[in-house]
Amino acid sequence: MTQPAQQALRAPIARRLFLFFLLSAFVPLAAIGLLSFAEVRGMLAEQAELRLARLAKSYATAIFERLAFAADIGSAAADSPGAGAADSMATRAFRSLFFVEANGVVRAIIGEAKSLDLPTGARERLASGKPVLWAVGEGAHPRILLAASISRAAGGFIAGEVKPEYLWGPDDEWPAATEFCVVLESSRRVLHCPAEMTATALRAVDSRAAASSTWARPDGVETFRARSASQFMRGAFGSPDWMVIASQPEGYQLARAVAFSRVYIPVLALALVMVTWLTLRQARNIVAPLTRLAARARGIEANDFNSRLDLARGDEFGELGGAFDQMAARLGRQFASLNALAEIDRLILSTQDMAQVVRIVLQRIDSVVASDFASITLFSMDDPGHARTYFCPPEARASVTMVRHTASDADNAMLQRANHNRVVSWGPEDALSGYLRPLREHGMSTAHLHPITWRGATCGVLVLGYRAIHELTPDEDRSALELADRMAVAVSSAWRDEQIYEQAHFDRLTALPNRLLFEDRLEREVVRAQRESMQFAVLLIDLDHFKNVNDSLGHGYGDEVLREAAQRIGACIRNSDTLCRLGGDEFVVMVTALHTSQEAWLIAETIVAAMSREFKPGDQSCFVSASVGIASFPADGQSVGQLLKCADTAMYRAKAAGRAQAVFFEERMNVETVARATLDRDLRVAMDRGELVLHYQPQLDLRSGAIRGAEALIRWQHPTHGLVSPARFIPLAEETGFIEEIGRWSIERACGQMRAWRLEGLALERIAVNFSPRQFRKRSLVDFVGRCMAEASLPPAALEIEITEGLLAERGKLIEQILRELSGAGHRIALDDFGTGFSSMSYLKRFPVDAIKIDRVFIEGLAPGTDSQAIVAAVIAMSHALGKAVVAEGVETREQLELLRAMGCDEIQGFVLSAAVPPAHFAALLRSWNPAEQGYKSWSVSNTD
Ligand code: C2E
Ligand code: CA
Ligand code: CA
Repeated sequence: MTQPAQQALRAPIARRLFLFFLLSAFVPLAAIGLLSFAEVRGMLAEQAELRLARLAKSYATAIFERLAFAADIGSAAADSPGAGAADSMATRAFRSLFFVEANGVVRAIIGEAKSLDLPTGARERLASGKPVLWAVGEGAHPRILLAASISRAAGGFIAGEVKPEYLWGPDDEWPAATEFCVVLESSRRVLHCPAEMTATALRAVDSRAAASSTWARPDGVETFRARSASQFMRGAFGSPDWMVIASQPEGYQLARAVAFSRVYIPVLALALVMVTWLTLRQARNIVAPLTRLAARARGIEANDFNSRLDLARGDEFGELGGAFDQMAARLGRQFASLNALAEIDRLILSTQDMAQVVRIVLQRIDSVVASDFASITLFSMDDPGHARTYFCPPEARASVTMVRHTASDADNAMLQRANHNRVVSWGPEDALSGYLRPLREHGMSTAHLHPITWRGATCGVLVLGYRAIHELTPDEDRSALELADRMAVAVSSAWRDEQIYEQAHFDRLTALPNRLLFEDRLEREVVRAQRESMQFAVLLIDLDHFKNVNDSLGHGYGDEVLREAAQRIGACIRNSDTLCRLGGDEFVVMVTALHTSQEAWLIAETIVAAMSREFKPGDQSCFVSASVGIASFPADGQSVGQLLKCADTAMYRAKAAGRAQAVFFEERMNVETVARATLDRDLRVAMDRGELVLHYQPQLDLRSGAIRGAEALIRWQHPTHGLVSPARFIPLAEETGFIEEIGRWSIERACGQMRAWRLEGLALERIAVNFSPRQFRKRSLVDFVGRCMAEASLPPAALEIEITEGLLAERGKLIEQILRELSGAGHRIALDDFGTGFSSMSYLKRFPVDAIKIDRVFIEGLAPGTDSQAIVAAVIAMSHALGKAVVAEGVETREQLELLRAMGCDEIQGFVLSAAVPPAHFAALLRSWNPAEQGYKSWSVSNTD
């Protein structure tokens, strides 16, 4: 069976159909076919039998007639002896013929005269004028003799032997393959018979002469069928009756039946195959759509509403499929709508985030009611003049956009009256309510408004918008109403929650967060700072002598002062910081994202300063100050409770120390802070007083032995502390930003010095100045450097710029641009302290760096076979490969110097030559420099810094 047929039959209904067809068509058809086949075959056989019987009869009649004719012509020949015609006729019928006269004389007519023995009773018959016939001889071919009286001579008669060929006639008169046998009926004596017809054959016909009988030839190859016919002879010839047996081979006889069956059986088989095939086809035609229908039904059961049957058929199945698809689509819509509403319900119950609810409603609104646009407007709880409208732009329906706008009283009044579903359309020029504008801009021309109302107040509106005039069906209208109702529920609970939340988390007097909310935020900040390893600080602010204000001016004024204090504190902090009122005259600030604790202290100081200004509550005036306690995370505490407690302790210390000041919880920090604050202040003064000076350290070219450059290093000539190292004040200046000023001063100063030396005729190629990363934050640096060079009439090559790896690591576009411009102008750029920072070779390739300064730490331990030597060798090799010069810093011994020279280092700098020295000292050293000696002798003496 073919594949589809097998498939079709797998379904029970298909099997039943097939069985049914088989029973109702196949079986009857097969039965009718077989029966009619048998019938027709029988009929054909019977016809053949009849024909055979008829043949036997015709043959018998022919023999009879030939005998009668022979008797006549024999008589005629005797009547007119010598008549040629009669004789020739007789010759055809007789082999021999005699005329026997009445007297017994025999005369021969044909052949020789012979006497013959007549059978008994013959003479009487002849006398009465009747012929006589008899057979003589034994075996299969006896002679047939005939006698007949003659009218002319009374008492005479003719007698003779009939020619067998005449009597039995030629074969071609009869149908082919037909054989005849003639026997005496009573005795079964054979008169004429072909050799094949044996005695058995005779016996076979014998019993039932009327029916057909069969026999096989002796060789058994062929079966024959025979029919007999008796020929009455006694009356005409006075002989016993003859019987003629006609026989034909069965094959010949049944030829037509065989031909019939040869056509009939294949046709019948073909018909049966056709029936089967049509049955299968029909079964498949019925079962296929049924199977698909069943599969779809199961799909729907499994919530698949989107697939379609699409049975493209013109019959009832097609109709059923269409109806099914429609039903699935409707069910799908209802299901989606129910789902969406259920989801919205869940959301309303589970979240207080109104915006979230609105977003979900807008994203799912298509499942509930179809529209081109949808928006939800919510009026502000405490100010109905302000509203937020959420909508999905048609080009991105999944993303919800929110706009804030004002709402007019007219809008609100109109919505108040609308109760539910008011339709508005407008012309292009019409002024529109704020909440309709965003959708109008996207092409909405009709809007159905569904006010969202709670306790008689309009708190929002749901807008369903359409590009063209659109009527909502009652279904859609109901769905929209349901949505609006749900929104009302959500808004009401959100508003209620908001009120409760406000009351619970905000201070009524100042509208600041209260302790509850603050602790909550503090807790979150602790988690965040822990995760991101950040610092933050808690400032506890307590007003000094506030009790006096209350006592002397009254609580009303006291409240006023508190509100003002809250405002002033708020102005001192950054947006990211949190201010709250703990209660009474206590405030607390959380200062986040700190780099150093000092930043918190600076804020605290500004707060202290702000609170020290005069307060003017109403028509009164008073002074209060504030004491601030600072607790730092993570140093002072890791929990909310600990931090607040430390801040409290610090605050009490501030009070004890005389009020109106900020105090760290940790003593060390207070000391440091004060020291730094003092240093910062002093540094700024030092600058003005000219206490800053530049010292110069020579740089030796190892190849030529010449001093080609000097590094300018800053010193602070402190009136009491003496010479202060830059390591002490540069980092602080970098933190406070004062470094920018110092930087500018250094460049200007170094350039001025260089110009002075050049004018004196001192041969120094270049001077190196240290640049701080902060200086690269402003593009004006390039112009400033250019101006300094111009003022000192120096070529750019005379100024080398030392930068740090930290600068390159910042990866700022501006930094890179400034560097390129400086390098492009012709300044040599040197990378300072190489090896201590990020030390990425990729910087060297990317940025325009001309020289590398290997940091002192690698030179310190430099000796043959050490790690330092390997590192220095590698840095030298790599730098040279990149085309950069290498300067070794902090070279203190000759061994180090020689080793560096052997390793191919370009320049060195360090105490082995000289420390940084004042300009006059430097000039003297340079003049006494002898490249050939490399100054070992003279220089080692003057090494006193
Ligand atoms: P730096 O740029 O690495 O300067 C080299 C420092 O090593 C100098 O310290 C110098 O006195 C010291 N030094 C030189 N040779 C030797 C030696 O053989 N052995 C030892 N042990 N030390 C040696 P100094 O002058 O205290 O400067 C410290 C840092 O201050 C400098 O490090 C530089 O980063 C910064 N600095 C100095 N002047 C300026 C300036 O004008 N502007 C900026 N932005 N930074 C400056
Ligand atoms: Ca330097
Ligand atoms: Ca250095």
